[in-house]
Amino acid sequence: MNAADGESLAEQFAEIGMVPGVPLQDADLAVLVTCAVRQHAEDRASSHLGVLASWKTMRAGRAIALTGCMAGEHGETLLRRFPQLDYVFDMRESDGFMARMRDLYQGALEGPVPLPGSDRLLAYLPVILGCNEMCTYCIVPFVRGREASRPAAEVEAQARQLVGQGVAEITLLGQNVNSYVAPEDGSGLPELMARVDRVPGLRRLRFLTSHPRNASDRLLDAIAELPTACEHLHLPVQSGSDSCLRRMKREYSVAEYSAVLERARERIPGLGLSTDIIVGFCGETEEEFEATMRMLRQVRFDTVHVQAYSPRPGTAAYRRADDVPLAVKKERLQRVLRLQRRISLERNEALVGTRVQVLVEGVAGDGRAFGRTRQNRVAWILSEARPGEEVSAEVVSASAWQLLAA
Ligand code: SF4
Repeated sequence: MNAADGESLAEQFAEIGMVPGVPLQDADLAVLVTCAVRQHAEDRASSHLGVLASWKTMRAGRAIALTGCMAGEHGETLLRRFPQLDYVFDMRESDGFMARMRDLYQGALEGPVPLPGSDRLLAYLPVILGCNEMCTYCIVPFVRGREASRPAAEVEAQARQLVGQGVAEITLLGQNVNSYVAPEDGSGLPELMARVDRVPGLRRLRFLTSHPRNASDRLLDAIAELPTACEHLHLPVQSGSDSCLRRMKREYSVAEYSAVLERARERIPGLGLSTDIIVGFCGETEEEFEATMRMLRQVRFDTVHVQAYSPRPGTAAYRRADDVPLAVKKERLQRVLRLQRRISLERNEALVGTRVQVLVEGVAGDGRAFGRTRQNRVAWILSEARPGEEVSAEVVSASAWQLLAA
């Protein structure tokens, strides 16, 4: 979402005549697009602000702005905490900030700046902002607000524009993307996917990130049937223990979650599956953690993103004791990583000898092309290929995280 926010800001700056994306030493304005989902992300933003403080003093007239989730979480108090900071603004109301920039730099601006032709092959397209869920550990609903879906016609128009600029793969984006409801007619994400799928020239369509509660059969059918929809589903489960899921207020049981995956695998041959796990959530017992390990062994995801629980002020879980010691959190994190490394390796090795479709995203210094399969696996290609090409290649070897194809 932050990458999408950064792209949107660059376009808005270009519209008022400011040149986005220049090297920092040439810039008059630095904008930090921040994340607040974990304490670590906030610490990194604070340390960037420290570096920018000395950048600002090197030339008169320089300014620093901050937006993203930290702006929503701390608001104007950031201006007091960081005296080097000049502006804090909400991404949902960036018009006011842009108007201020236009007024401030008036005279130095000469109308819209033509942005150089994008060589982007992949683009994020936000379709729904905010989240109506109330997972007890999560700060997102407080900093990104309630769900607001963009009109489907507007999304389609932007998809056409992106494809016209050379984008081959679009990821429809939202904190809770599968609760999308088109304001025009109440249709959902499957219908929106069908609309974007029809955009001439689009080759791949993905969406991120989903709540298991909204993973309907219609959505699974859309993945199975739409030609551009990639056979990949990222469905965060967070824990394999029902009691832990209840404390997290995730609103589904492990059995319900597993049933969705079963239906997904039945309907979508060769489906790539990934998930998110939080270890060491408040009160997580060894038995609850073992239940998560058991579920990982049963489901056999392709990829698992695992994080140790990080308490966020303002959330419901913040009022509970963060009672799993750091050493235990780290040890559980390592156990998940070790298990998943083995499973990912086995799943990738099973692909040796089969053919995969790779959309080439770039060429490394040694001349080898790399990209991703439709199931979202990273693949290296031994034959010559250019970015933007879609190559059918045979997998010759595999590691836990990558395939090698020729
Ligand atoms: S669904 Fe996702 S974004 Fe929404 S509250 Fe839960 S974890 Fe946060």
